[in-house]
Amino acid sequence: MLDSNCIFCKIIQREIPSFKLIETDHSYSFLDISPISVGHSLVIPKYHAQKLHEIPDEYLTDLMVTVKKVALKLKVENYNILQNNGELAGQEVNHVHFHIIPKTDDGSGLSYKFKHLEEDSFNLDEIQSSFNR
Ligand code: 5GP
Ligand code: ZN
Repeated sequence: MLDSNCIFCKIIQREIPSFKLIETDHSYSFLDISPISVGHSLVIPKYHAQKLHEIPDEYLTDLMVTVKKVALKLKVENYNILQNNGELAGQEVNHVHFHIIPKTDDGSGLSYKFKHLEEDSFNLDEIQSSFNR
């Protein structure tokens, strides 16, 4: 369930120190060591896997409830949830984690802008029908 070479598994096992926020049987949350806004936090499952779809449902359920609890405790009105899967998607630590990133009007926090595809570059019907195959 845990991987002895993984930095986040080491945090769960207290082999590496962290600023713990909330811990449950299935989840662990702590402050990001290099925050992009004040209160930037991470929530991780106590189950080692790189990507979200590899996590058993009972861990995922608890993970989302813990994300909500951390957001409530942080008392943030505006925030982004970020969860990267894979190197191309910006994932640096290969253990599933949700970022909770408070957004305030000081310019800190997550900055992004959607770059929408050209209309003729995709086919919604085709994508939808692949779900029913
Ligand atoms: P990713 O780019 O994989 O979505 O984000 C990884 C996050 O983990 C980064 O925001 C980084 O600052 C944080 N991080 C990496 N190593 C450590 C660590 O040892 N302790 C803590 N608290 N955060 C870490
Ligand atoms: Zn791990």
